[in-house]
Amino acid sequence: MWYAKMYFSEKRECFQYDAFGTQGAPSVCREFPFLESLLTFLEMDCEELTPALQRIADCWSQLISGGNRQAGTDAMVELGQLKIRHIYLELLYVRWYDRFSRMGIYHDHGSTEDQQMLEELRRLPEQLLLYQKQVQRFFDLVLDVDSAGREPQQQAAMNYLYDIPKDPDLFRFHPIPLNFEPVEPGRCSPVLYSASILDMIDYSLRSCVERGITVRRCKNCGRYFPQTGRISAEYCERPVARDQQTCREAGAFKQWTKKQSDDPVFKAYRKEYKKRFAWIRAGRISDTDFYAWSEQAREMKKKCDRDVITLEEFQEWLKHS
Ligand SMILES: [Zn+2]
Repeated sequence: MWYAKMYFSEKRECFQYDAFGTQGAPSVCREFPFLESLLTFLEMDCEELTPALQRIADCWSQLISGGNRQAGTDAMVELGQLKIRHIYLELLYVRWYDRFSRMGIYHDHGSTEDQQMLEELRRLPEQLLLYQKQVQRFFDLVLDVDSAGREPQQQAAMNYLYDIPKDPDLFRFHPIPLNFEPVEPGRCSPVLYSASILDMIDYSLRSCVERGITVRRCKNCGRYFPQTGRISAEYCERPVARDQQTCREAGAFKQWTKKQSDDPVFKAYRKEYKKRFAWIRAGRISDTDFYAWSEQAREMKKKCDRDVITLEEFQEWLKHS
């Protein structure tokens, strides 16, 4: 029997899928930073998926009502393309592949299971859009540190009456199928065995609340990131496009340059340095003299940074050195 597993491990999330149910050797095994799947789901253009989902539903309908095997194959090809778009969509492929491969040639057309799967496909485009809105609302009211504060537990408790959200647009939790098993050497963890995308979203949101993890929009790239470390973190750790640097490193550098340019001691030093550097070109000073001077100037700057001399004294020295 097929399965789709999802679990969290510290700052990571793991997905395992297998159409044949081979435990220990899944056909798909992917790892992401914690919450990345939910965040990319939130950013996904779901309306763009609708035509493909409709075509798959139509093919499935032809397969189960008239035994059109080719339509079944077409549905699988489309599902195969769709699953590349998001890790949640891999679930559809695995489930439909399992069902299709069990049908055989003398399939009794239109069983209840097949009919239910068809209805699921038909409803999915609308549901994905709804889940996105509900997740966004949950971020605004519960998880976003800038709009909801630092206490997801308190915010969640405030926003629900038993299992009913007080705001009708807020995400609705429901029972999810959790197991418990070893997930890596020496460690057991709850594992979600699910047949629905909704369960994966549900598990991600409740895990944030349970672990007290807030989210924030990154000051560099503008995307949400989970604050798995410091609550004051302002940058995510995703790599900046086509760069080895992460947003956090780029942000730290920006902060440093800003701090430096606001610093009067650094400014005074920088101005004099530039002036004298230009003198080399003009032939007013030799390389050696310049480097000797800059070494002295750095020493003086250090003294000034440590308040051994005042800014005025440093400026005087720069002028007459
Ligand atoms: Zn970022």
